[in-house]
Amino acid sequence: MLEDIYETVRGVLFNDWPKNSSDIPVIYDLPIKKWHLGEFTLTGLDTPTIVIKGESVGEKDAAYGTREEEFRLTITAYVQSASRELSERHAQEAARLLDTILRKHRRLWVVGICPICQKSTLSPQHFVIEHNDILAPYVTDVQDEFDDVWALTHTSTAPSLGSSALSGLAFLAMYDSVIDQTNPPITNLTAAARKRILSYKEKLRRPVRLLYDVAVTDAKTSDGGEGQQLLYAASLTLSAKELLRVAEYGPDNVPTASWERRK
Ligand SMILES: [Zn+2]
Repeated sequence: MLEDIYETVRGVLFNDWPKNSSDIPVIYDLPIKKWHLGEFTLTGLDTPTIVIKGESVGEKDAAYGTREEEFRLTITAYVQSASRELSERHAQEAARLLDTILRKHRRLWVVGICPICQKSTLSPQHFVIEHNDILAPYVTDVQDEFDDVWALTHTSTAPSLGSSALSGLAFLAMYDSVIDQTNPPITNLTAAARKRILSYKEKLRRPVRLLYDVAVTDAKTSDGGEGQQLLYAASLTLSAKELLRVAEYGPDNVPTASWERRK
Protein backbone atom coordinates (compact mmCIF):
# COMPACT_ATOMS: atom_id res chain seq x y z
CA MET A 1 0.00 0.00 0.00
CA LEU A 2 2.67 2.49 1.01
CA GLU A 3 5.96 1.36 -0.51
CA ASP A 4 5.43 2.98 -3.91
CA ILE A 5 3.98 6.09 -2.21
CA TYR A 6 7.14 6.40 -0.10
CA GLU A 7 9.27 6.18 -3.22
CA THR A 8 7.12 8.78 -4.99
CA VAL A 9 7.25 11.30 -2.13
CA ARG A 10 10.99 10.81 -1.78
CA GLY A 11 11.35 11.35 -5.55
CA VAL A 12 9.25 14.54 -5.51
CA LEU A 13 11.14 16.01 -2.54
CA PHE A 14 14.53 15.17 -4.01
CA ASN A 15 13.58 16.62 -7.39
CA ASP A 16 12.08 19.88 -6.09
CA TRP A 17 14.53 20.56 -3.24
CA PRO A 18 16.96 23.50 -3.76
CA LYS A 19 20.42 22.15 -4.57
CA ASN A 20 24.00 23.35 -4.17
CA SER A 21 26.55 23.66 -6.98
CA SER A 22 27.22 19.89 -6.78
CA ASP A 23 23.50 19.25 -7.35
CA ILE A 24 22.98 17.98 -3.78
CA PRO A 25 19.84 19.09 -1.88
CA VAL A 26 20.72 21.51 0.94
CA ILE A 27 19.15 23.10 4.01
CA TYR A 28 20.89 26.49 3.89
CA ASP A 29 24.54 25.38 3.70
CA LEU A 30 24.04 21.79 4.92
CA PRO A 31 23.84 19.04 2.26
CA ILE A 32 21.19 16.44 3.08
CA LYS A 33 23.04 13.17 3.72
CA LYS A 34 20.33 10.52 3.93
CA TRP A 35 16.76 9.97 2.72
CA HIS A 36 15.30 7.11 4.76
CA LEU A 37 12.05 5.22 4.38
CA GLY A 38 10.42 3.87 7.54
CA GLU A 39 11.67 3.86 11.12
CA PHE A 40 15.30 4.81 11.59
CA THR A 41 17.73 5.42 14.45
CA LEU A 42 20.04 8.34 13.78
CA THR A 43 23.60 8.98 14.76
CA GLY A 44 24.74 12.62 14.90
CA LEU A 45 26.91 12.20 11.80
CA ASP A 46 23.93 11.30 9.64
CA THR A 47 22.33 14.73 9.71
CA PRO A 48 20.69 16.38 7.96
CA THR A 49 18.45 13.42 7.21
CA ILE A 50 14.91 13.19 5.87
CA VAL A 51 12.84 10.26 7.18
CA ILE A 52 9.54 9.32 5.53
CA LYS A 53 7.17 6.91 7.22
CA GLY A 54 3.43 6.45 7.24
CA GLU A 55 0.30 4.41 7.65
CA SER A 56 -3.10 3.83 6.15
CA VAL A 57 -5.62 5.52 8.43
CA GLY A 58 -8.98 4.62 6.97
CA GLU A 59 -10.76 2.74 4.26
CA LYS A 60 -14.42 3.03 3.34
CA ASP A 61 -16.91 2.63 0.49
CA ALA A 62 -16.94 5.79 -1.62
CA ALA A 63 -19.37 4.68 -4.36
CA TYR A 64 -20.63 1.45 -5.89
CA GLY A 65 -17.55 -0.67 -6.60
CA THR A 66 -15.20 1.99 -5.27
CA ARG A 67 -13.29 2.16 -2.00
CA GLU A 68 -11.55 5.23 -0.70
CA GLU A 69 -8.35 4.79 1.25
CA GLU A 70 -6.62 7.50 3.23
CA PHE A 71 -2.91 7.62 4.00
CA ARG A 72 -0.99 9.67 6.49
CA LEU A 73 2.74 10.14 6.09
CA THR A 74 5.11 11.70 8.57
CA ILE A 75 8.06 13.45 6.99
CA THR A 76 10.76 14.43 9.46
CA ALA A 77 13.91 16.44 8.84
CA TYR A 78 16.65 15.90 11.43
CA VAL A 79 19.33 18.57 11.69
CA GLN A 80 22.26 19.12 14.02
CA SER A 81 24.23 22.36 13.99
CA ALA A 82 26.93 24.02 16.07
CA SER A 83 24.54 25.75 18.48
CA ARG A 84 20.94 25.45 19.61
CA GLU A 85 20.02 28.62 17.74
CA LEU A 86 21.57 27.32 14.51
CA SER A 87 19.83 23.96 14.92
CA GLU A 88 16.55 25.82 15.38
CA ARG A 89 17.16 27.87 12.24
CA HIS A 90 17.99 24.76 10.19
CA ALA A 91 14.92 22.91 11.51
CA GLN A 92 12.67 25.86 10.66
CA GLU A 93 14.18 26.14 7.18
CA ALA A 94 13.72 22.38 6.55
CA ALA A 95 10.06 22.62 7.60
CA ARG A 96 9.50 25.64 5.34
CA LEU A 97 11.04 23.82 2.36
CA LEU A 98 9.03 20.63 2.95
CA ASP A 99 5.81 22.61 3.25
CA THR A 100 6.51 24.75 0.17
CA ILE A 101 7.44 21.78 -2.02
CA LEU A 102 4.55 19.55 -0.98
CA ARG A 103 1.97 22.33 -1.43
CA LYS A 104 2.43 22.10 -5.21
CA HIS A 105 1.48 18.42 -5.34
CA ARG A 106 -2.22 18.25 -4.54
CA ARG A 107 -2.49 15.30 -6.90
CA LEU A 108 0.29 12.77 -7.39
CA TRP A 109 0.83 9.87 -9.74
CA VAL A 110 2.29 6.82 -8.04
CA VAL A 111 4.00 4.68 -10.64
CA GLY A 112 5.53 1.30 -9.78
CA ILE A 113 8.79 0.12 -11.29
CA CYS A 114 8.44 0.12 -15.08
CA PRO A 115 8.19 -3.53 -16.18
CA ILE A 116 9.75 -2.65 -19.54
CA CYS A 117 12.98 -0.91 -18.44
CA GLN A 118 12.83 -1.54 -14.64
CA LYS A 119 13.33 2.14 -13.75
CA SER A 120 11.32 4.28 -11.34
CA THR A 121 9.50 7.38 -12.53
CA LEU A 122 7.22 10.11 -11.18
CA SER A 123 5.00 10.39 -14.26
CA PRO A 124 3.25 7.81 -16.45
CA GLN A 125 4.38 9.96 -19.39
CA HIS A 126 7.55 7.90 -19.03
CA PHE A 127 5.81 5.03 -20.83
CA VAL A 128 5.07 7.01 -23.98
CA ILE A 129 8.31 9.03 -23.93
CA GLU A 130 10.58 6.01 -23.45
CA HIS A 131 8.56 3.18 -24.94
CA ASN A 132 6.58 4.78 -27.74
CA ASP A 133 7.51 1.95 -30.11
CA ILE A 134 5.37 -0.32 -27.93
CA LEU A 135 2.67 2.09 -26.81
CA ALA A 136 1.83 4.20 -29.88
CA PRO A 137 -1.09 2.00 -31.05
CA TYR A 138 -2.53 1.93 -27.51
CA VAL A 139 -2.44 5.74 -27.26
CA THR A 140 -4.64 5.91 -30.36
CA ASP A 141 -7.01 3.22 -29.02
CA VAL A 142 -7.39 4.93 -25.65
CA GLN A 143 -8.12 8.35 -27.17
CA ASP A 144 -10.66 6.78 -29.60
CA GLU A 145 -12.36 4.95 -26.77
CA PHE A 146 -12.54 8.13 -24.70
CA ASP A 147 -14.00 10.04 -27.68
CA ASP A 148 -16.64 7.32 -28.20
CA VAL A 149 -17.72 7.35 -24.55
CA TRP A 150 -17.83 11.17 -24.59
CA ALA A 151 -20.01 11.14 -27.74
CA LEU A 152 -22.64 9.04 -25.95
CA THR A 153 -23.64 11.98 -23.78
CA HIS A 154 -22.25 15.08 -25.56
CA THR A 155 -22.73 16.79 -28.90
CA SER A 156 -19.49 18.77 -28.57
CA THR A 157 -16.06 17.40 -29.47
CA ALA A 158 -14.32 15.50 -26.66
CA PRO A 159 -11.55 17.40 -24.87
CA SER A 160 -8.09 15.93 -25.26
CA LEU A 161 -6.90 13.81 -22.37
CA GLY A 162 -3.93 15.12 -20.35
CA SER A 163 -0.61 13.68 -21.54
CA SER A 164 0.06 11.79 -18.30
CA ALA A 165 -3.46 10.33 -18.15
CA LEU A 166 -3.33 9.30 -21.81
CA SER A 167 0.07 7.67 -21.36
CA GLY A 168 -0.98 5.93 -18.13
CA LEU A 169 -4.18 4.60 -19.72
CA ALA A 170 -2.29 3.44 -22.83
CA PHE A 171 0.16 1.60 -20.60
CA LEU A 172 -2.68 -0.05 -18.65
CA ALA A 173 -4.36 -1.10 -21.93
CA MET A 174 -1.08 -2.71 -23.05
CA TYR A 175 -0.66 -4.30 -19.60
CA ASP A 176 -4.17 -5.81 -19.69
CA SER A 177 -3.53 -7.02 -23.21
CA VAL A 178 -0.47 -8.96 -22.03
CA ILE A 179 -2.43 -10.45 -19.15
CA ASP A 180 -5.17 -11.65 -21.50
CA GLN A 181 -2.92 -14.33 -22.97
CA THR A 182 -5.29 -15.10 -25.82
CA ASN A 183 -4.11 -11.84 -27.44
CA PRO A 184 -1.34 -11.96 -30.06
CA PRO A 185 2.18 -10.95 -28.91
CA ILE A 186 2.70 -7.20 -28.61
CA THR A 187 5.00 -5.61 -31.17
CA ASN A 188 8.41 -4.62 -29.71
CA LEU A 189 7.62 -5.93 -26.21
CA THR A 190 10.49 -8.19 -25.18
CA ALA A 191 9.89 -11.62 -23.69
CA ALA A 192 11.53 -10.45 -20.44
CA ALA A 193 9.18 -7.43 -20.15
CA ARG A 194 6.19 -9.64 -20.87
CA LYS A 195 7.30 -12.04 -18.13
CA ARG A 196 7.63 -9.14 -15.67
CA ILE A 197 4.11 -7.91 -16.48
CA LEU A 198 2.71 -11.39 -15.86
CA SER A 199 4.64 -11.54 -12.59
CA TYR A 200 3.19 -8.14 -11.53
CA LYS A 201 -0.27 -9.53 -12.20
CA GLU A 202 0.50 -12.66 -10.18
CA LYS A 203 1.67 -10.49 -7.27
CA LEU A 204 -1.52 -8.37 -7.49
CA ARG A 205 0.45 -5.18 -8.11
CA ARG A 206 -1.13 -1.97 -9.41
CA PRO A 207 1.37 -0.31 -11.74
CA VAL A 208 -0.23 3.16 -12.02
CA ARG A 209 -2.07 4.89 -9.19
CA LEU A 210 -3.32 8.40 -8.53
CA LEU A 211 -3.39 10.13 -5.14
CA TYR A 212 -5.64 13.14 -4.60
CA ASP A 213 -6.30 15.54 -1.76
CA VAL A 214 -2.58 15.40 -1.01
CA ALA A 215 -1.91 18.09 1.59
CA VAL A 216 0.18 18.95 4.59
CA THR A 217 -2.29 18.80 7.46
CA ASP A 218 0.00 19.39 10.39
CA ALA A 219 3.49 20.78 10.92
CA LYS A 220 5.68 20.76 13.99
CA THR A 221 8.36 23.02 12.59
CA SER A 222 10.86 22.27 15.39
CA ASP A 223 10.89 20.04 18.46
CA GLY A 224 13.44 22.31 20.14
CA GLY A 225 15.92 19.43 20.42
CA GLU A 226 13.99 18.05 23.37
CA GLY A 227 16.26 15.55 25.17
CA GLN A 228 18.55 15.42 22.14
CA GLN A 229 20.80 18.43 22.77
CA LEU A 230 21.70 19.90 19.35
CA LEU A 231 19.74 17.34 17.31
CA TYR A 232 16.52 19.05 16.24
CA ALA A 233 13.61 17.63 14.29
CA ALA A 234 11.00 19.29 12.07
CA SER A 235 8.02 17.07 11.35
CA LEU A 236 5.19 17.44 8.84
CA THR A 237 2.12 15.28 8.32
CA LEU A 238 1.11 14.66 4.73
CA SER A 239 -2.39 13.29 4.11
CA ALA A 240 -3.47 11.70 0.84
CA LYS A 241 -6.43 9.78 -0.53
CA GLU A 242 -6.78 7.14 -3.21
CA LEU A 243 -9.81 5.61 -4.92
CA LEU A 244 -9.67 1.85 -5.48
CA ARG A 245 -11.88 0.05 -7.95
CA VAL A 246 -13.28 -3.17 -6.54
CA ALA A 247 -14.48 -5.48 -9.28
CA GLU A 248 -15.21 -8.56 -7.17
CA TYR A 249 -17.55 -8.97 -4.24
CA GLY A 250 -18.30 -12.61 -3.57
CA PRO A 251 -19.76 -14.68 -2.13
CA ASP A 252 -19.18 -17.00 -5.11
CA ASN A 253 -15.56 -16.09 -5.89
CA VAL A 254 -14.21 -18.85 -3.59
CA PRO A 255 -13.30 -22.47 -4.37
CA THR A 256 -15.97 -25.08 -3.81
CA ALA A 257 -13.44 -27.76 -2.69
CA SER A 258 -13.55 -28.94 0.95
CA TRP A 259 -10.91 -29.91 3.50
CA GLU A 260 -10.64 -31.54 6.94
CA ARG A 261 -10.06 -29.05 9.76
CA ARG A 262 -6.93 -29.53 11.87
CA LYS A 263 -7.66 -30.82 15.35
ZN1 LIG B 1 10.35 2.18 -18.70
